[in-house]
Order: sequence, then C-alpha cells, then structure tokens
Amino acid sequence: MKYYDKLIFELSKEGRMGYSLPRPKDNLDTCDSIPANLRRSEAPLLPQVSEVDVVRHYTNLSQMNFGVDTGFYPLGSCTMKYNPKINEEIASMPQFAGIHPLQKNLPGIEAVYQGLDSALAAITGMKHFTFKPCAGAHGELTGLMIIREYHMSRGDMKRTRIIVPDSAHGTNPASAAVCGLEIVQVKSNANGLVDVEDLKPLLDDTIAGIMMTNPNTLGLFEKDIREIAQLVHECGGLLYYDGANMNPLIGTVRPGDMGFDVMHLNLHKSFSTPHGGGGPGSGPVGVCEKLVPFFKVNVSGFNGNFGVMLRAYAYILMLGRENVKMCGRLATLGANYIKESLKDCYKLPLAQVCKHEFVFDGLVNDGAREGVAGATTLDVAKRLLDYGFHAPTIYFPLLFHQAIMIEPTETESKETLDQFIEVMRTIAQEAAQDPDLLHTAPHNTPISRPDETAAARNPILKIWDECAC
Ligand SMILES: *Cc1c(COP(=O)(O)O)cnc(C)c1O
Repeated sequence: MKYYDKLIFELSKEGRMGYSLPRPKDNLDTCDSIPANLRRSEAPLLPQVSEVDVVRHYTNLSQMNFGVDTGFYPLGSCTMKYNPKINEEIASMPQFAGIHPLQKNLPGIEAVYQGLDSALAAITGMKHFTFKPCAGAHGELTGLMIIREYHMSRGDMKRTRIIVPDSAHGTNPASAAVCGLEIVQVKSNANGLVDVEDLKPLLDDTIAGIMMTNPNTLGLFEKDIREIAQLVHECGGLLYYDGANMNPLIGTVRPGDMGFDVMHLNLHKSFSTPHGGGGPGSGPVGVCEKLVPFFKVNVSGFNGNFGVMLRAYAYILMLGRENVKMCGRLATLGANYIKESLKDCYKLPLAQVCKHEFVFDGLVNDGAREGVAGATTLDVAKRLLDYGFHAPTIYFPLLFHQAIMIEPTETESKETLDQFIEVMRTIAQEAAQDPDLLHTAPHNTPISRPDETAAARNPILKIWDECAC
C-alpha cells in the first residue's frame, strides 16, 4: 500500500493545518449575532492536514486516473479525440464563465449561438439548431418529441411507433420509450447494414419515423440511406439522425443531403470537449425547415451547457472550412490501418472498409485448451491497461458476443497507432501461450479487478462510519 492509497481523513493529525485565518474580533462562542439554534454543537468533521498533504494526496489521486491527456483512448463510439487547450482557455474567460443564466441582453453570447448555429447548419445540411439539450440522449428525446409534435399538429394521431435498427446505441430505444413511442426493431443484414427488405414490411401509417446512425455503430456507412429515406418518407414517417458518429463525415457528407429531417450532434464528442467523466455535454438538435416551428417543445429551462458550445465554436473556427474535412479522413485512415494490421490475430466479422471505427469479435487464438479457459474480450481489455492504454469499448454493439470496438480518432499519430498495434499483437501471443496471465490482469494498476456489479449496485460513497477521524 502506497501512502497515498489512504483517504485524506486517514492522513489527519490533530492540530495540523493548511491555512490560518485572522482571529475574529469577538469570541464566536459569545457572539450574539449568531442565534443559538444556528450554532454548531460540535466541530465539523474535517481532515486536519497540511497544504503539502493536500497537494500530494490529490495530485497522486489524479495520476491514478486515465485521460486522453495521459494516453491513447480508443473507446469506440465515444470519439475520445485530444481536446485543444485553446478551447479551455476560451471557455474559462470570465466574460463567459461569469455570466448568470438569467442575465439578459448579451449580444456577445447571442453572436456565439448564431455563429455556431450557422456553422452546424452548414456542416449538417439542417436549417437551424436548438441548443437546449445537454447530451446526445437528451437530444434524441428532444428530436423525437419534435417528430411526435409534427405528426400531432397534422392530426395524424396514429403514428406512435418508431423503427430502430438492432445495431443502435442503447440510448435510441431508451429515448423512444421515454417519449412514449413503441419501438419496432429492424434487422441488420450480413454486411452489418440496415436490411432494406426487412424494413419494407414495417412501413405503414403507424410509423412516426426511423432512428439511424450513419456510419452505424459498426463503423459502416449505411449506403442504402437514400433508398431508406425515400421509403420512410413515402409512408409518411420522418428520419432521425443520431449524430454521435458524425466525426468521419464532417465536411464531406451531410445528413440533410442523405434525407434526414431531425438530428442531434454530440458536441462533446465530435467537436471536442473533455467527456470521459460523463459530462457536461451538449446535444444540439438540428431540423429541416418545416420542423423549425416545433423547437417550441419544452425540454429544458435553460439554453444548454454554454461552455461546451464555446469549445465547439472555438474548435470549428480554429480548424476552418478546409481543415475540418481532414478530421474524418484521418480518423477513417487510422481505423482502417489498425483493422488491417490486427485482423490475423483478432476475428474481424465484417471485413469491408470501415469509417472511423470497427469491431473485432474476440481473439483468433484465445489459448483455450484442456483445463485452461481461453482469454475473453474482457481479459484483453484488462491486459491493455497494463501496457498503459485505455481499453476499447467492449461487448458493444450487441451483434457479436466478444465485441471489441476500436475508434482511434484523427488526433493520434502513426507512431501511437503502431505502438497500440504492437501491444495488441503481444496480448494475442500472451493469450495463446499463457491465458492465465490475462485472466488475472491488470497487474500494474492501483486496483486490479473490482467487482463491477457490486461497485455499481452498492457503491461506498461516504466514509464517516468506516474511518476514525
Ligand atoms: C454517445 C452516443 C449516444 C449518447 O450520447 P450521450 O451524449 O452520451 O447522451 C447516442 N448514440 C451513439 C451512437 C453514441 O455513441
């Protein structure tokens, strides 16, 4: 146990201090200005530590974490690109950071909203965006409410069902359910794309629309999208675009041109805000012209997380019209490079050219033999941590049992990709020779394999009872 494995409360020593305040003029115990019923009867439970104790404790804790600033983070579906520090500088300017949500008459802020709205409209082919939604899933709910309102405004009350592909991100059916829509699943074909023949019989006058991600969660471009758009529109439905995978398309292809009517963007993913810890995010919703009046659906009291919008705007302006196109192209090149370099060691169920991410289905040779279990995707992911890489997304999408979903993003150099490929090959060899080494991984991290179910179901969030402080 290293000394910083202790809680800050366990470092406490009676009388040790990190600060000193001037003594109050009056003795507080006798101070009449604080009513007796508001005074503490006991001193607060605070650790008594020196400044250096605090600095070392939290600096060491911060280094037990993993972030895109410390290493490669190929977490599929999450677009963990490096976030330029200029974004942080701009978002923390007191002129922006110090504004109160109820403050009015702020032309500078208005200009940011308008500038970002037109940039996103140009990138996506939508007419306008609303910035209220605070995350992708919140954007999905907003977009679906817009679709529902649109049908209802036309007296078309039967449209209560929404089509969602079996490869969709879990938030898609979840948002549809929260919106009160019934989910109808459409299957993927052998190439991992929406099966148009399976879709056709689902289309009737009860269909509100379809939710699609393009490229989909397998990293594959839905090349039949124009035909799908025509079929859905012909039956009176609308098309919702889950824009979480917009990164490879920015500056090249627009959802509006594919036939989508409503969409969200995950500004924190594609447009660069740190998001490993789960927020704050921004999921602005864009719509085609005829849906602009339905922005009136009420999803949030305020105008979203402004700091994330500032970062996105700074990022777009910094790159400019020409460079922004390079992001998707380099991300796509990197993903295909890793895929082709590793497909002899990891099973590649869908071998075609991918966009910014792709999915392996476990190891080709997992080392299973008499009396020894083979290494699983979880084992590979845990072992990667020993080599200083964040694990890819695992066991998603649900179409494959041992899914490993890798998204390198454009900000990684070829050298980094080569190191990752080498480590993934080493792990494949280890699995073949000594799978137990993987079963017990990670070996070099502060903790090894926590009981993930217990940690989620019975988290220990307070230490008062456990520690004597
Ligand atoms: C991340 C993601 C979402 C959800 O976005 P949040 O901002 O996490 O709510 C939806 N769909 C896909 C494909 C995603 O990758």
